[in-house]
Amino acid sequence: MPLRALARVNLAAIERNCRLLAAAAGDAQLCPVVKGEGYGHGAVMTAVAAQGAGAKWLGVATANEAMDLRMAGIEARLIVLGAVSPEELDIALAADADLVVWSEAFAGAAAGSRLHIKLDSGMGRLGTRDAELATRLAGREDVVGLMTHFATADERGDSFLGEQLDRFTDWVAPLRDARPELIVHAANSAATLRQPAARFDMVRCGIAIYGLDPFGEDPLAHGLEPALALETYAAAVKPCAPGESAGYGRQFVATEPTVLATLPIGYADGVRRGLTNNADALIGGLRRPLVGTVSMDNVTVDLGSDGDVAVGAPAVLIGEQDGERILVEEVARRLDTINYEVTCGISARVTRDYHRDGEQA
Ligand SMILES: *Cc1c(COP(=O)(O)O)cnc(C)c1O
Repeated sequence: MPLRALARVNLAAIERNCRLLAAAAGDAQLCPVVKGEGYGHGAVMTAVAAQGAGAKWLGVATANEAMDLRMAGIEARLIVLGAVSPEELDIALAADADLVVWSEAFAGAAAGSRLHIKLDSGMGRLGTRDAELATRLAGREDVVGLMTHFATADERGDSFLGEQLDRFTDWVAPLRDARPELIVHAANSAATLRQPAARFDMVRCGIAIYGLDPFGEDPLAHGLEPALALETYAAAVKPCAPGESAGYGRQFVATEPTVLATLPIGYADGVRRGLTNNADALIGGLRRPLVGTVSMDNVTVDLGSDGDVAVGAPAVLIGEQDGERILVEEVARRLDTINYEVTCGISARVTRDYHRDGEQA
């Protein structure tokens, strides 16, 4: 019988996705992004897989994330993409990470490390909008890179990506002429796949290395392979007569005789309550609807009157079973969110189990 809730991660799929993206990026190198515990897949194991696929860089969001990778023996060049407080700076430097800067004050505090100047070309979040300040900072000897980040790369047909790209290209051109060794980078997964001119010297791909589609569509259309499956099992199977209900608030009341399975996974595992009467599970090789309120530790599934599912039967909330599949993108659509939030939300209570195409890793 499986553990109550398992996130099975195929490291071979992550490797293949990294190779595919590196090839798509042409001459630009790939910086796989493993922040947020590798988008829920596990940062260290994702980093190992990415390195196995030839990645020389890894992106994280925080100083602690960089340190966690170093402590686990990851040797790739690390870049902390997010803001670093004065308190965190020592941790980032001890992890020998590259840092992103957009102010004189921070550049001064981080002097002597490896700095990437961030121009805010339109994201309106981190980075400076002051191109003169950015150019002044870029003259420092400890600067090794120039970067920006796109706000709308995942929106097909939008024109703002082009505007940001023009602004960034105008800014980097003279700096690059003066110092060709500077590493110029801008693209996330969506821009890498959508806009060749955004690739520059390096692309920072997160979502796509996990085989998830940055456009929220079918990842297979880009040749990406979903790496994560969320699995549980039928802990109880019992008949439910008309008028009987399941779960808090009686959000499901049977209208005809049926059979319900209880799966021991709930919102404390990251199965969001918004999936109440709004999701499917694969069990016994068929898609069956989740019925009733998602609770903290359990959900209930309607097996139908012909349900022939035994206690212990494997159940899949994300992934494949007997040729049927549920994509993260489907779950995201039902929750009116994005695939990123779905896998990042799978909590630490869910055991991560690593394999390579079915072979225990
Ligand atoms: C998270 C992040 C990325 C990766 O974005 P994806 O859409 O997951 O590919 C790239 N750059 C920066 C600055 C980020 O914060």
